[in-house]
Amino acid sequence: MNQIPVTGTTRLTCLLGSPVSHSLSPLMHNEAYRILGLDYVYLCFDVGEDALEEAVKGLKACGTAGFNLTMPNKTRILPLLDGLSKSAELIGAVNTVVREGSALIGYNTDGIGFMQSAVEAGVTVPGAVFTLMGGGGAATAIAVQAALDGVSELNIFVRPQSRFYARTLEKADRIRTSTACRVNVFDHADTHALGDALSRSTLLINATSVGMSPDEDASIIEDISLLSPALTVADVIYHPPRTKLLQDAASAGCRVFNGMHMLLYQGAEAFRLFTGHDMPVDIIRQKYF
Ligand code: NAP
Repeated sequence: MNQIPVTGTTRLTCLLGSPVSHSLSPLMHNEAYRILGLDYVYLCFDVGEDALEEAVKGLKACGTAGFNLTMPNKTRILPLLDGLSKSAELIGAVNTVVREGSALIGYNTDGIGFMQSAVEAGVTVPGAVFTLMGGGGAATAIAVQAALDGVSELNIFVRPQSRFYARTLEKADRIRTSTACRVNVFDHADTHALGDALSRSTLLINATSVGMSPDEDASIIEDISLLSPALTVADVIYHPPRTKLLQDAASAGCRVFNGMHMLLYQGAEAFRLFTGHDMPVDIIRQKYF
């Protein structure tokens, strides 16, 4: 494989999180740099909350082109940045930081990645009604981006005892005041509201960790009679590639897609922000997804 030599002009991009050793990001980004002949390199650094401030100061001083953040750093980065994109500000979390002049600006590409994967799966976005399960990081990014992209109604189901419940109510208010989207937040156990929301939705999204390996027998939708063939069903989980929810939905005649392409497209958007170039996603998808 032809590698671009690392030279005195090579620009550094990287991932800060803990753990990071399993990440696909260096493979995706470095392969895309190689294909496009771009003088960048992408590395992973195992940096948790204790070392984050020092690491960010160091990267800024060294003139990084930008970096990604994963657990536990997506919210802890906020006070260390000079500015935020509109979606990152609404989401309240950042997964991509770009050096713009001397400033570090935070973006969130998770929601963009999900919406791109939904469009690719044939989902129509403007004016649509979506039902979203969960109120954590992935759910918030998707809710904000769906609203910014023109979804007209979002029905979000969260457990009232959830550590994210109050935050979901607050985010729903912010989305309502910042976009034209109607946002309803329901108790996860309200099956009547869920049935009603699903009967009016074109897309159901599981943005909880329910069904993720090793709990592969669990599904966020226990009553499979709620899954009608008119519904497209998405799971942000990609391990396993077909969760119980997606298996049940496919059996019910629904179109389904998992979180693999959300992962691909959030990386592609970060790549575009770092370099100004489009990632060759078809090649990257074939090779790693
Ligand atoms: P998170 O912030 O911890 O949120 C997890 C959500 O799942 C919370 O709303 C939590 O609610 C809910 N949940 C967990 N167990 C539940 C249960 N038994 N019943 C109902 N709700 C339950 O995690 P996250 O970062 O959003 O990640 C969520 C999932 O998305 C993970 O599987 C992760 O791997 C995946 N993900 C995928 C991508 C991608 O690119 N495809 C990107 C990010 C995340 P409670 O507070 O009530 O527990």
